[in-house]
Amino acid sequence: MITDLYSLYQDVILDHNRRPRNFRALEGFSQHADGYNPLCGDKVTIYLQMKDGRINDISFQGSGCAISTASASLLTETLKGKTRAEAEALFESFHDLLTGKDSGNSSELGGLGKLEVFSGVSEFPARVKCATLAWHTLRSALDKKSEVVSTE
Ligand code: ZN
Repeated sequence: MITDLYSLYQDVILDHNRRPRNFRALEGFSQHADGYNPLCGDKVTIYLQMKDGRINDISFQGSGCAISTASASLLTETLKGKTRAEAEALFESFHDLLTGKDSGNSSELGGLGKLEVFSGVSEFPARVKCATLAWHTLRSALDKKSEVVSTE
């Protein structure tokens, strides 16, 4: 059963890599940021359009490995309509999932939804930066920082 779950997760990641969602420059964006993971060569740009404290629209562009692309794609799907606080909480749970930390709050992890497909990444520490690049970049976009985010 575990094997089935892993192959299902892998299918989701490969699908988002092949057909990334919200992969475009966002027209009328209010803020954006660039991220770079020198360890793997992943590059991502996140565009945000904030409205009334919520992420009204979000998109990304970039090039990188399957994990970084799928992660950015799932990030945009997950965060549309979320507040900044909700996005931060998800990032924390997501980071715990990737680093194999038990947050001690399983219901919180349950809130990750599709992001749980990245749970296998915890077995490959070098790929954690691939999976979190889009999230670090998102945080920078929320802060309206202009320098490129590096995972190093
Ligand atoms: Zn990568």
